[in-house]
Amino acid sequence: MESALETARQQLRRAVDQLQLSENDWQTLSTPRRILEVAVPLRRDNGNVEMYKGFRVQYSTTRGPSKGGVRFHPDIDMDETVALAMLMTWKCALTNLPYGGAKGGIAVDPATLSVMENERLTRRYTSEILPIIGPERDIPAPDVGTDERNMAWMMDTYSVNAGYSVPGVVTGKPISLGGSLGRTSATGDGVAISTREALLVRGIDPTSATVAIQGFGKVGYWTAVGLEKMGLTVVAVSDVHGGVTGFNSVTELWNHFKEHGNLDAPGTDRLTNEELLALEVDVLIPAALADAITAHSAPSIKAKIVVEGANAPTTPEGDAILKDKGVLVVPDILANAGGVIVSYFEWVQDKQAFFWDADEIYQNLDSQLMKAIREVEAMSSEQDVTWRESAMMIGVKRVADAHKLRGLYP
Ligand code: GLU
Repeated sequence: MESALETARQQLRRAVDQLQLSENDWQTLSTPRRILEVAVPLRRDNGNVEMYKGFRVQYSTTRGPSKGGVRFHPDIDMDETVALAMLMTWKCALTNLPYGGAKGGIAVDPATLSVMENERLTRRYTSEILPIIGPERDIPAPDVGTDERNMAWMMDTYSVNAGYSVPGVVTGKPISLGGSLGRTSATGDGVAISTREALLVRGIDPTSATVAIQGFGKVGYWTAVGLEKMGLTVVAVSDVHGGVTGFNSVTELWNHFKEHGNLDAPGTDRLTNEELLALEVDVLIPAALADAITAHSAPSIKAKIVVEGANAPTTPEGDAILKDKGVLVVPDILANAGGVIVSYFEWVQDKQAFFWDADEIYQNLDSQLMKAIREVEAMSSEQDVTWRESAMMIGVKRVADAHKLRGLYP
């Protein structure tokens, strides 16, 4: 199987060719600008010291400060971080945010850490990457394995070192520290909006549509809630232990999950991850990790639309199979851009020290994302390319144009 980085580079190469950009453009666009690997020592609660690898990649700063999440996952490495930072670059450009792209992370399983250990690790990582982050340089945010608590510790560590409070150094913070209303649900809200629009494009009434969601974390859960509010029927969801069907509502399932730590609410039936991917539904939403839709799983997919809630959930082989089957794929850099869009609103509010209400945030998210969806759809029909190719062409072109306008120093 291709590595995440090879996949991301292939997608870029295709966009560069389709846009008929030059070899010089390919060189500038395919090279990450700043890569930092740090050793993060952690004193465990029992007194032992362990070393973890930490990363921060600033893939591009051409259109503004770099922006992207921090992932805590045992499998994260430098190549994957570069790939994810690259995706952030095209995502921010596609949705017209004044940002470049970044990503960071620590190769650690956060489930193995106590709260105090997680805090020490987060703070030490922040202090190791401190010289290259800042509200005008590079703005981290939550990603897989991190949440608003990690952002609060990052903001505090940065602020203590600056000598004053700097809320704009990270987004996805708790509301009381300068976080934004609507940020927690933003990625899921964006996935729900993209799903609704993709259904309309395919001529399917959203209120009669059925959906299966792989993943019931920050993205999957809020996507499910957003879709139910829009009148769609979520028929199955899964977590790392597998999936369930037969629940009455997502909220009921979530309440059971919070109380019992499992998805086995009364009346539900179990199904495997493979069975969930192969369900006869209108929309399939991979909202967990990379490589869910592969040469192996794609042939059995029956959904008419795939909406990528996760980053890079489809391998190139999986993508080719979906294309042959005529499945409409709403690519990650469009479908899950709601998170970084509301991160941008949070950063703007922090800069202005003036906060907006929840309705205003949702309306602004909807219109910013809708603009990108319409552009992707239009380019896809005009050029007869997939939504992924179209989204990549729009994002990559904006970065290439900015490069040209800025020129080369010296
Ligand atoms: N981690 C999220 C993503 O992959 C959000 C990034 C951000 O808000 O900066 O898009």
